[in-house]
Amino acid sequence: MSRKPLAIVGAGMSGLSLAVALRRLGRRVDVYEAAAEPPRSRTFCGFEVEDHPFTSAVGHRWNDVVVRGPGETHRRPLVRHPYAMIEGSAFVDRALGLLEGTDVRLHFGAPVADVADLADAAHVFDSRPAPPAPDALLQVFAGRFVRTAEPRFDPGAATLMDFRVDQSRGVHFVYVLPTSRTEALVEDTYFVPGPLAPEVFAETLDAQLAALGDHEVLATEAGTIPMSTAEPPPAPPGVTRIGLAGGVAKASTGYAFLFAQRHAQAIRVALREGRPPPATVRSAQQVFLDQVFLERLRAEPTAGHRLFLRMFERTSGDRLARFLSETASLRDTLAIMRSLPLGPFAWQAVRTGLVPRRP
Ligand SMILES: Cc1cc2nc3c(=O)[nH]c(=O)nc-3n(C[C@H](O)[C@H](O)[C@H](O)COP(=O)(O)OP(=O)(O)OC[C@H]3O[C@@H](n4cnc5c(N)ncnc54)[C@H](O)[C@@H]3O)c2cc1C
Repeated sequence: MSRKPLAIVGAGMSGLSLAVALRRLGRRVDVYEAAAEPPRSRTFCGFEVEDHPFTSAVGHRWNDVVVRGPGETHRRPLVRHPYAMIEGSAFVDRALGLLEGTDVRLHFGAPVADVADLADAAHVFDSRPAPPAPDALLQVFAGRFVRTAEPRFDPGAATLMDFRVDQSRGVHFVYVLPTSRTEALVEDTYFVPGPLAPEVFAETLDAQLAALGDHEVLATEAGTIPMSTAEPPPAPPGVTRIGLAGGVAKASTGYAFLFAQRHAQAIRVALREGRPPPATVRSAQQVFLDQVFLERLRAEPTAGHRLFLRMFERTSGDRLARFLSETASLRDTLAIMRSLPLGPFAWQAVRTGLVPRRP
């Protein structure tokens, strides 16, 4: 690859993460962002299984995770891998701090309509959103950051999934991240084939918030993350897709932050060694496991919650953290497999192995 500058399109989560990873490469990196400043409204959560340049921006850690279903609660300690949250502003501040005085130039209010316009760049990393694969399940969610008048939350435990809500549309759960005894993000989440009207979320959120008594809503967030193992459409020569557009989100969960950090580091190493940047850091085995899981959810959407409940009932928190973060050992993976109903999964694995992946 020539010593011409590198270009990154988008200064969102993946664009800034890659800019940080490339900041000491000894060559110029131009980042083009359409907006006037980097987006700060998102909060990034995930299990802490390894260090990355944003570890110091973690604002809250939970040493317990909870999953609930009708008549059952599974609280799992996280001894080695706490669940951690990085607020959008802390992420951006850390990135901008690390980029100061480096060879990375940030251009805001600089939309890129066509990557071919960046002909001066030796390579372009493109994070512009791409349409989801046609068969993608969608993770759709809407949340409220709330402050209650009375202490209502346990800031030591993150409720990853509370399934005690209507399951008729597909997998549906409430996610509660308390940052103090009176403050939390309460989020309503579905895994469904298509978008949902805002009223659908309001129904659950209003009921959840009413149960908290007096409270104020400090902020809201909403989003859609495609859940698919289909490969992104091929990028033109000299272009690598990054972020959600590059398929960085784990198909079975929608988590993307940690995988974007790994992709950024893998790109840095490849460039330093003069190799082409990798399109993904995910192994074929991980993709296969996600695909089997997604196909199970698709085959029996209204029973999907039972799969998650069995996994959390029968597995330790740290093991789950490693599995969901794709750092599981073979022993971890086998233990998780044993927690799931063997028959339907074995059948699904055979089917998934025989039927080619849809584009
Ligand atoms: C509300 C919300 C919460 C989330 N929470 C988590 C979480 O807790 N944990 C987790 O792992 N993942 C989470 N995700 C998923 C994922 O981490 C985020 O969606 C993340 O922002 C994806 O990064 P990205 O770089 O692909 O996209 P973005 O962060 O959206 O960045 C894309 C950037 O490209 C810019 N852009 C678009 N078009 C152009 C153009 N033509 N020219 C130049 N710039 C352009 C945009 O303005 C934007 O800044 C969340 C997603 C959402 C929506």
